[in-house]
Amino acid sequence: MKKYSLVIVVLVFVFVLASCGDKKQKEESTQVNYSKVEIPAFSADSAYAYVKNQCDFGSRVPESKAHKQCGDYLVSFLKQYADTVIEQNFTTKLYNGKAVKGRNIIASFNLASTDRAMFASHWDSRAWADNDPDANNHKTPILGANDGASGVGVLMEMARCLKLKPQKIGVDIVFFDVEDQGCPEWDKSDITDQSDWCLGAQYWSTHTHVPFYQANYGVLLDMVGYSNPRFAKESQSMNYASSIMDKIWKIAADRGFGNMFVNENTGGVMDDHVYVNKDAKIPMIDIVNHDPTTSFFPYWHTVKDDINCISKNTLKAVGEVCLVAIYSAS
Ligand SMILES: [Zn+2]
Repeated sequence: MKKYSLVIVVLVFVFVLASCGDKKQKEESTQVNYSKVEIPAFSADSAYAYVKNQCDFGSRVPESKAHKQCGDYLVSFLKQYADTVIEQNFTTKLYNGKAVKGRNIIASFNLASTDRAMFASHWDSRAWADNDPDANNHKTPILGANDGASGVGVLMEMARCLKLKPQKIGVDIVFFDVEDQGCPEWDKSDITDQSDWCLGAQYWSTHTHVPFYQANYGVLLDMVGYSNPRFAKESQSMNYASSIMDKIWKIAADRGFGNMFVNENTGGVMDDHVYVNKDAKIPMIDIVNHDPTTSFFPYWHTVKDDINCISKNTLKAVGEVCLVAIYSAS
């Protein structure tokens, strides 16, 4: 994922349209008190273990042995809980033109429902610690405990919860591959449109796992495990799906997580949700640790993005907020 600054008039137009269409939902979401919505107990210990399990494979760089092993682990894990699990294999091209194989993984719950919500995260980890303070590490792959494994760990625990208590809406959990292999800082290639990021999401958004797939909304989780997180209202999410953002932030406030989900706007980031919004036309927000004055989190794209970054409390807060969004749907 990459910081992003996109100021396009078209987005303002999209924003206006989205605002009109979602007015009813917005009014409803600000009136509901989400503190009493009953959800299955989200185990922070389990979510943490799932993050650690991914890291224990090593760096999940596409086409590496650890990547293959972790992908197989995620598929077999999800098959225990979901109605269906689809593996979407694809070939894409990295920033330098090199072809690379990827695998998106999609787990679906309550397939009979056409009223669906989508929750996603990327499961690959970056091939280079190009933001590390030590230049000797700039070509070392990262473990991506927070940048990758945290969102996946939360969604894995959510999958276990979804099996425990039926839900009225259908839910799809999507693990995107090849999100974080954009041009490294030390390479001077100039990819001005940042199309070298989010390659799995780009593929999925133009080749959804089932034809004509639609969801009412989507929530992307990225870097959702740091001990002192700051989830602000990211501008791409606000442009495309402000009513979803307001609802999720209201849920967080009602559940006592307003210290993490701050009521502040922040700049845009290039992340998987941009393509889901733009190409798949599903309004999707990004819950992402983003502090405009520093960075995404102190160890972003460094060799220190390991299990020591991860807080069980943060994983639990994010998981509970997502589960309330699902179980409050009528
Ligand atoms: Zn990243």
